[in-house]
Parts: sequence; structure tokens; C-alpha cells
Amino acid sequence: MEHQTEVRGQGSARHAEIAGAGFAGLTAAIALARRGWSVRVHEKGLELREQGAGIVLWNNTLRILDAFGLTEEIERGSMRPPFYETRMQNRIVSDEDVPGIPWRTMTRPFLHSVLSSAAIREGVEIVTGSEVVEARDAGTLRLANGSEVSGDLVIGADGVGSAVRDSLDIRYERHQARDGITRFLVPRCKEELQAIEPDTEWDNVIDFWNLEPRVLRVLYTPANDRELYIALMAPADDAEGSAVPTINLDVWTSIHPQLTPVLKKAAGIEGKYFRYQTNRLEQWTRGRVALVGDAAHAMAPALAQGGGCAMMNAYTVAEAASAASTGDIPDALVEWERIERPYTDRCQTRSQRYADTRGMSKGGQFVGENNETALYDPTDPRRHDDVVAR
Ligand SMILES: Cc1cc2nc3c(=O)[nH]c(=O)nc-3n(C[C@H](O)[C@H](O)[C@H](O)COP(=O)(O)OP(=O)(O)OC[C@H]3O[C@@H](n4cnc5c(N)ncnc54)[C@H](O)[C@@H]3O)c2cc1C
Repeated sequence: MEHQTEVRGQGSARHAEIAGAGFAGLTAAIALARRGWSVRVHEKGLELREQGAGIVLWNNTLRILDAFGLTEEIERGSMRPPFYETRMQNRIVSDEDVPGIPWRTMTRPFLHSVLSSAAIREGVEIVTGSEVVEARDAGTLRLANGSEVSGDLVIGADGVGSAVRDSLDIRYERHQARDGITRFLVPRCKEELQAIEPDTEWDNVIDFWNLEPRVLRVLYTPANDRELYIALMAPADDAEGSAVPTINLDVWTSIHPQLTPVLKKAAGIEGKYFRYQTNRLEQWTRGRVALVGDAAHAMAPALAQGGGCAMMNAYTVAEAASAASTGDIPDALVEWERIERPYTDRCQTRSQRYADTRGMSKGGQFVGENNETALYDPTDPRRHDDVVAR
């Protein structure tokens, strides 16, 4: 069967084709469009929406949103909890206000709608129901409907199961942790929670660890005035703790009785259990194709930086490609990976270590090198002065 390859961007604007309208794909799309590119995003889902629950964003991503002029909009729909509290067997082991690092909590559908609306305002074309099945290093995407599209730059932002990555035969190592998580957005139920534990600050993020008699952890994250993000972590080999689509309410409330009002709400919602995984690719680029986000560097959520790294790398690859001449884009992508990737590699290593050891249960994790990625400012043009000079 013969296919016509549609080539865009033959006028003054250079053209990018992006696979995936998640946080990575949308960030790359906005960053490129703001630099004068024509951009088309292919999203295999029939609707433009994010199905996940909540997310914590740190300085690295808040700087990008600010560069896009989205700070006010983000602040209106998110919150900054007073403390990040860690408890073990319901005893507080640390209360961190994470000094010096801006951070905010929000729902994922909210962040997704802010980014997708911004992309559309910037002139990005988003095609839903458009599944990418293959990429070629010359800058081509083949779609499930049989057509081919090409651009000066192709970005694979199609998540952990990336068709772009796999079709380019980029090898990777995969590490699965023993634990996984089921995530929900539920009503805050603040008054009911206060009635059970009046001395608790229910606006805090509270990481309720429990290791004895069984490992069952609840990460409690207020996302705004109305919505609460709760993530229920259990080992993959605990059939009751990881039970989905309906959680085992008796098991969870027996360990975390103070959370009964919100666990009851979660029990009324269908959940999916995600096992933590870390993927390390042999390379992130091939010719005119760059991989970003979970397609390139899925990581355990221990430091809450998977989305952060996805947006950082999406933003910086757009910057690197824009600074290069069209002919030099493949080389510019290789150089981008050389300079930017070490931050993500280190974050993946730390996150995997924390996930493997359950070390976050000790609290006090927002210190020293753990903060490297959260503090990073991908919008600072001088951030690599010392690296480039070496
Ligand atoms: C439990 C948990 C908690 C987390 N908490 C945080 C947190 O607090 N902070 C944080 O920064 N990160 C967090 N993360 C990580 C973060 O969720 C991910 O790293 C981030 O969502 C990755 O974004 P992405 O755009 O790369 O991929 P995705 O969000 O997976 O988006 C990929 C998109 O591509 C589409 N797609 C897939 N295949 C194709 C195809 N073939 N063709 C076209 N489209 C396709 C999908 O439909 C989807 O829309 C967490 C992760 C987990 C599991």
C-alpha cells in the first residue's frame, strides 16, 4: 500500500510533529509554537483529557509555566500546602516546609486543561484519535490510519509504552519496583477528617506510611479547596492491598482508620494499580526524532519528579532545536541529550533507590542532592555555563 507523506512547514515556519498530548507533548508544543514553529500534536485518545488524579509541581515546572505566562491561572486552581508531613504508624517523623523551593499541588486534569488551552491559544493543532504507530529518523511519523506526516523535528512524547521509541528500536533497561500505587481524586471531606483527628493540619500533604503488620501507605495530597488526591501504595504481591478496580475498604481502613471518610469515597471509584518502573534508554534521540517524558525516562514517583522531568526535557528540547539551523537539528538533539540528560538520570537513580528501600518512610527527604531536580530552572539561559565550558 502506498502512502502520501504530507510535508508541512515549507513556508517560513519550521514544522514539528509530536506524538502524545500528555504533559510532555503539550509542553514541547507550546515551547515550539512560542518560538515560531508550526506544530501538530497527535493524541491517540478520542478526547483531549488527562485521566490521572493529582500532581505536585516544583520550581523546575513552575518556572516553565511562568515562562508560558500561566502562573496566575495555575495559582487560581491549585494550592500550596503549609507542610509536607511524614508519618510512620501514624506518628509524625518529619514536617517539612521545603524552604527555598516553590511547590504547588493540583489535580492532573486541571494542569492538563491549562496546558492544552495554552497550546491551542498558541496555534498548535491537536488531532485526537490519531495514533502514531512508527517513527523514522528522517523526521516522519506513520499513523494508524495509514497516512504519513513529516517535520523538521519529531517528538515522541507518547508515554511509557512509546510506539515512537519502540519503532526506532531504541533499547532500554526496565526495572520494576516491588510496590505500586492506585490513585484517586475524592472530595476533601475536611470537616469529617477534623472530627476524627482535630489536632491534624488537614491542609498538609501527609505521607501516611505503615510497614507493620503489612505495607500499606496512603499519600494524602490536598489539590485545591474541594479536591483531595490520595495515592494508595501496596506491594504488588499483596492481593488485598493492590486489589482493583475496587479497593479493599476493610483492609485499608483497618490500617488507616483516621482516613475512613476519604477511603470510603475512593472505594466508590474504579481504580487502576500502577507498578513503579524505571526505564533507561540507550539514547533519547535518533536523527530528527527526540524522545521526552515517560517515553524516554519513566521513573518511580518517590521524589514526585516524573512529570517535572518530562516538562523540563520537553521545554529544553524545544529550545535546543530552535537554536539550531534546520540542517543541524540532529546534532543539536545529540548535544541537548548530552547536557540535559544527566539531571534526569540522577533523579531516576534517586527515585528508584527510594522506591526500592521505601526510604521516604524516614521523612526529611527534601534535603541536599534530592532537591537538585526540584530546584532546576530550565528557563535560565545560563544554567549550563560551567558544563558547556568544560
Ligand atoms: C503514582 C504516580 C504519582 C506521580 N506523581 C507525580 C508528581 O507528583 N509529580 C510529577 O512531576 N510526576 C509524577 N508522576 C509522574 C508523571 O505522572 C509522569 O512522569 C508524566 O505524566 C509523564 O508525562 P508524559 O507526557 O511523558 O506521558 P503521559 O502522561 O503518559 O502522556 C502520553 C500521552 O501520549 C498518548 N499516546 C500514547 N501512545 C500514543 C500513540 N501511539 N500515538 C499518539 N498518542 C499516544 C497518551 O494517550 C497520552 O495522552 C507520578 C507518576 C505515578 C505513577
